[in-house]
Amino acid sequence: MILPVIAYGDPVLRKVAKEITKEHPKLDDIIANMWETQYNASGVGIAAPQVGLSIRLFVIDASPFADDDDLTEEEQAVLSDFKRVFINPKIVEESGEEWAFNEGCLSIPDVREDVFRKEKVVIEYVDENWKKQTETLTGLAARVVQHEYDHIEGVLFTDKLSTLKKRLIKGKLANITKGKVSVDYRMKFPQAKKKR
Ligand SMILES: [Zn+2]
Repeated sequence: MILPVIAYGDPVLRKVAKEITKEHPKLDDIIANMWETQYNASGVGIAAPQVGLSIRLFVIDASPFADDDDLTEEEQAVLSDFKRVFINPKIVEESGEEWAFNEGCLSIPDVREDVFRKEKVVIEYVDENWKKQTETLTGLAARVVQHEYDHIEGVLFTDKLSTLKKRLIKGKLANITKGKVSVDYRMKFPQAKKKR
């Protein structure tokens, strides 16, 4: 089932999400719905708060990035296969040089900005089979994980911009909160005026 994507301005995107247990109600359905919602919106990842659930869960399928000709064959191979469910993840290490990448977010349509992040992460999590995993990631795989991880910490990529950039996009963000944005997937806007 495709769920509405929660738009910028909703308090659920600002909460530090809670860990879940294996017995979390309808977890399989939640994960299936998150995949469907993400693919429908042509995203590469979605975090539970973006569908209104303040739990520590996100899904990533970075395979669309594998077509990028600027990447090495090795990076393309990693990304083509980078489809994961992250439950109760914990970034245990972030290291390397900071590098910029033009990020977007399903909750913040029509806004894209360069964001600086460190190049490497080590992340521990459990997968959809409740198996414990530890992975070391670099480049775009690390980037997508850092972006989604921020969501479960109540952080959005726009928080990481310069004061000037923030000022420049302030109006656009306010419009998104009110639903004044054109988007081709279902969204829930915190301040949308009810249509008659
Ligand atoms: Zn996002």
